[in-house]
Amino acid sequence: MTPEEALARAAEAGIHRLAIPTPFAVGRVNCYLIEDDPLTLVDTGPNSGKALDELQNQLAERGRSIDDLELVILTHQHIDHLGLVEIIVEHSGAEVAALDAAVRRLANFAEDAELDDEFSAQLMLRSGIPENVVIALQSVSRSFRAWGSRAQVTRPLRDGEVLELRDRSLEVMHRPGHSPSDTTFWDAERRILIAADHLLPTISSNPLISRPLDGSNRRTQALVSYIDSLRKTRELPAEIVLPGHGDPVTGHAALIDERLAKTERRKEKILGLVRERPKTGHEIAQELWGNVAVTQAFLTLSEVIGHLDLLENEGLVHEVQDGDIFRYEAR
Ligand SMILES: [Zn+2]
Repeated sequence: MTPEEALARAAEAGIHRLAIPTPFAVGRVNCYLIEDDPLTLVDTGPNSGKALDELQNQLAERGRSIDDLELVILTHQHIDHLGLVEIIVEHSGAEVAALDAAVRRLANFAEDAELDDEFSAQLMLRSGIPENVVIALQSVSRSFRAWGSRAQVTRPLRDGEVLELRDRSLEVMHRPGHSPSDTTFWDAERRILIAADHLLPTISSNPLISRPLDGSNRRTQALVSYIDSLRKTRELPAEIVLPGHGDPVTGHAALIDERLAKTERRKEKILGLVRERPKTGHEIAQELWGNVAVTQAFLTLSEVIGHLDLLENEGLVHEVQDGDIFRYEAR
């Protein structure tokens, strides 16, 4: 099945992709209009006039408007997916559904974004990223915040519950990793999985190190949870996976196998680097990605720490403190 055929099959099932522009490197974000009762939109796009215009235009092409929406489902906490939610609710009075564990976090967007920035700054500093880089990245992150929004969830969803629309049943599956709140929606009858950023066709979903949804300041083992989540998704007899960016995935098991194999190779490579001598997360990121480890410091650090968590859980490396800096050492 080609991506076009997969989109056509989804459309026959009443699920229409609306690709909304974002100011981010990832390009457009996929929202999905589900023609059902209630009329449902999965994700909203970022909070910008351009995104709002496009959403309105693409809904109009289907004879719909924002005012007609009755339910907005949020797949996860990232701003490119939920920035327009408050504006949509103001216009339509739509219900907002999201994972119950994410409700607090979604309501406290501004406060939590600030805490996230402080948390990532501490993690970057202790991983050996220079202070001037950390300060620069924080101001970038702050400038992005306007594209986000708080969200008042009126329909909390439990992991495993079935969300019933008139013509379909969607099983709610909490699949953390890319973010702590990643939630996928499984239509078992049609074998369609709405996966958002949990599985993307052409880029791997960065398992970003985050604070947990309970708001505490521990850090998640993002890659460890992501692998666990991917293994569960692999078992689904899905024919079409609808991602948050790019075209539908039709061979999800093979794609997941590729992602898992890549993780395994990178883990071995990082173990080799640590065996040379103890290194900070940032040193390892620079050896793997050169200058990208500076311009994309948090992203690359998240990748490295994710693999180091795997190695640490296997008892192959451990962290040693040297003043304010932490290095990883082979056992
Ligand atoms: Zn995301």
